[in-house]
Amino acid sequence: MTNKQKQAYSEPEALKDILFQALYNKRFLLECGHCISFFNSTLGNDLTLKNGLNKDFKVICSQCGY
Ligand SMILES: [Zn+2]
Repeated sequence: MTNKQKQAYSEPEALKDILFQALYNKRFLLECGHCISFFNSTLGNDLTLKNGLNKDFKVICSQCGY
């Protein structure tokens, strides 16, 4: 990746800010059937996003992501 290409990407903190603001204290049923609640437990499920075109991406827990 060139320096110019690299500059097109935001830092991880920017993504964390977006996710934190959108998801804090919310609970969801995932496409794999497991549940997730955000940022209020270190023992909860982790989230895996399987990338896809537009809304074809999948949201599943990390255990089912393998
Ligand atoms: Zn799962």
